[in-house]
Amino acid sequence: AKRVRDECKNGVQVIVRVRPTSGAETSAGTLNCIEVQDSREVQISEFASGKDVLRQHRLRSRRFVFDSAFDGRSTQEEVYGKSAKPLVEAVMEGRGNATCFCYGATGAGKTHTMLGTAEQPGVMVLALRDLFRAVQQGADGFQVMLSYLEIYNELVKDLLKPSGTTLELREDPHTGVGVVGLTQVEATSTEEVMALLHKGNRSRTTEPTRANATSSRSHAILQIFITRPQTRAVSKLSLIDLAGSERALATDIRTVRSAEGAHINKSLLALSGCINALVQEALAIAAARHASVLILGSIGTP
Ligand code: ADP
Ligand code: MG
Repeated sequence: AKRVRDECKNGVQVIVRVRPTSGAETSAGTLNCIEVQDSREVQISEFASGKDVLRQHRLRSRRFVFDSAFDGRSTQEEVYGKSAKPLVEAVMEGRGNATCFCYGATGAGKTHTMLGTAEQPGVMVLALRDLFRAVQQGADGFQVMLSYLEIYNELVKDLLKPSGTTLELREDPHTGVGVVGLTQVEATSTEEVMALLHKGNRSRTTEPTRANATSSRSHAILQIFITRPQTRAVSKLSLIDLAGSERALATDIRTVRSAEGAHINKSLLALSGCINALVQEALAIAAARHASVLILGSIGTP
C-alpha cells in the first residue's frame, strides 16, 4: 500500500491555497465560504443568501482533503516548498520533466502565487533562485534556459519578445512538443529573471470583462530547460499561471468575450479531462492492489 501511495504521489499532487480576505471584501461583509482546517483539509460552506446578514446562516458544509492546504497567512516560501521545490530537485537530478500549474477563478491569487512581487517573489522566481544556486554550487556547468509564452484563444505568443505574431506548435518525435521560433534566453540571476517575467506579464492579454476589469484571459507558461553537463540531456520544468477558470458565459453572454471564453474553456476542459483520467487511474491502481484510496482532487467539479 505504501508503495502504491508513493508512486501515485510522485505522479500528481494537488495543493490548495486560500488567499487572505481583501479589505473590500471585509468592509462589504462578505462571508468566507472556505476554511482551512489543518495542513491537508479544507471545509467549504454554503450559505443561505438573504439581504439581512444575520439570516445568512450556514446551510451545509463539506470537507475535502488535499496533499497540502494553506490558509491566508501562508508565505510564498511555504507554498513553494510543498509545490515546485520537489520538482526542481527532481529535474536537477535528471529524474524527468515536471509541471506545476495554478488553477482558479480570476482574483483567486494565481498570479500572486506563481509570479508574486519583488517583495514577495512567487513560485516561478523561487524555483529559478534555487536552480541558479544549484548551478553556481555545482562546478560542472549546468545550463538554464528560459522561455515565457502565453496561450490566448488557443494561439501561442512569445512573452519574452512580444511581436503580435502567432507561433506554431509542432511535435518532434525526439524532443516532443515544442513551439517553433520561441525565444529562449539564458538566465543567471534572480533579479534578471524577475525583470523579464514582470515585463512579459505586462504584455499578457488582459482585457476587461464585466466580472473583473483586469482579469487575465490567457495562460502564461514559463518553461525552464536544464541541460545536464555530463550527458547534455535536457529536462524541462513548466510553471503555469492559467487563465481564470470562471465560465465566460457567466460573465457576459452577449459580447465577443464569450467566443474567447469558449476557447479558454476548451483548453481548461481538456485539462480537467486529463486530471479526471489520472484520478480514475489512481483509483483503479489503488483498488487493484487493495491500497487505500488516494484523493488527488479534481478540476472543474466542486
Ligand atoms: P489571479 O491571478 O488569480 O486573478 P491575483 O494573483 O491577481 O489573482 O490576486 C488577486 C488580488 O489578491 C491581488 O491584489 C493580489 O495581490 C491579492 N492576493 C492574492 N493572493 C494573495 C496572498 N496570498 N497574500 C496577499 N495578497 C494576495
Ligand atoms: Mg492573474
